Amino acid sequence: MGRKVFYIDTENLSFNEVRNIQLKFLLMIFLIVIFSLGFLFVLNYFTGDILGFGKARAEKLQRENNLLKEQLKVLREKFQQIESMVAKLLEQDRELRLAVDLKPIDEDIKKVGVGSVEEKYEFNLSDEEAEKLLAESFAKLSKLEREVRLQQKSYEEIYRQYKINQEKFRHIPAILPLKGGLTSKFGYRKHPILGVWAMHEGVDLVVDVGTPVYATGDGVVSYVGYRGRYGLLVEIDHGFGYVTIYAHLSKAFVREGQKVKRGDRIALSGATGLVTAPHLHYEVWKDGIPQNPLNYFFEEVDPAEYKKLVQEQNNKTNGG
Ligand SMILES: [Zn+2]
Repeated sequence: MGRKVFYIDTENLSFNEVRNIQLKFLLMIFLIVIFSLGFLFVLNYFTGDILGFGKARAEKLQRENNLLKEQLKVLREKFQQIESMVAKLLEQDRELRLAVDLKPIDEDIKKVGVGSVEEKYEFNLSDEEAEKLLAESFAKLSKLEREVRLQQKSYEEIYRQYKINQEKFRHIPAILPLKGGLTSKFGYRKHPILGVWAMHEGVDLVVDVGTPVYATGDGVVSYVGYRGRYGLLVEIDHGFGYVTIYAHLSKAFVREGQKVKRGDRIALSGATGLVTAPHLHYEVWKDGIPQNPLNYFFEEVDPAEYKKLVQEQNNKTNGG
C-alpha cells in the first residue's frame, strides 16, 4: 500500500521517509522477530514455562522446598521426643497422685481432654510429602498442647492435695504420748480387775505417777475431766476424723477448747479410775472406731526424740 516508513535522523533530529526498499524489508523482518518473541514469551507464561526460561528460579524453589521438608522431618522427630517426655510425665503424674492419695486421671477424661483421634489439618500444598509432614506436625503439636494443659491441671491438683496432706499429717496422731513399757495391747483381753473378757480400746503404758504426757498430733482439746473407770482424762480432737484419749491422769495442763501441737505437754500420768497400778491408758479413734494405737506411732519415736527431730528439721530449714 502507500504506507510510508520513516526513520529518525539523529544528526538533525528529523523524521525522514525511508525510501530505500531494502531498508523497508529489514525493518519488516525486525518487527516480525519482535512480535514472534513477544508471542513466545506469552505462550511460555501460559503453558508453565515449556521453554524453561524460569528453570533456574524453579530449581532454586525446589531446593528450598526440599530444605523445608528436611526441617519438617527434624521438627517431627523433635515432637516425637517431646511426646515421649510428656508420656513419662504422665506416668510420674500417676505415681504422684497416688502418693498424695488422689485417684489417677480417669482414662475417659484423658481421652476427652487429649483426644484419642488426631486432628486433621489441610494446607493444600502441591507437594504431597510436604503436605503430609506439615499436617502431621500440626496434629502432633496440638495433641501435645492438650496433653501439657491436662498435665498442668493435674499438677495444680496434686500441689493443693499435698498442702492439705501436710496439714493432715500434722494432725494425725503419730508419736508415743510418753516413753513407757507397753503392758496391755489393743484388742480383746481379760480385764485385770473386772476379770471379764472385753475389748481393750487402747494401749497401756506403764510409768510412775507424774510422768509428763504429750499430745500425739495437732488438735483441739475436746474434753478434760473425770469419766468413770478412765479417771481423769484428756481428749483431743485432731480433725480429719481422729480423736485421742489419755486416761488415768493425775493432772491436766490443758483446758477444753485449747489448741495443742504434737509434742505439747498436756498432762501428768497417774492412777485415777479403775487401775491396779499407775499407767497411761492411750486410745486412738478414727471416725468413731477405736484403732490400734500401735499403728499410730513408731515405737522408737518418743516425745523427746520427736522434739529432737523437729529441732533438727528446723535447724536444717533455717540453714544452720
Ligand atoms: Zn488401758
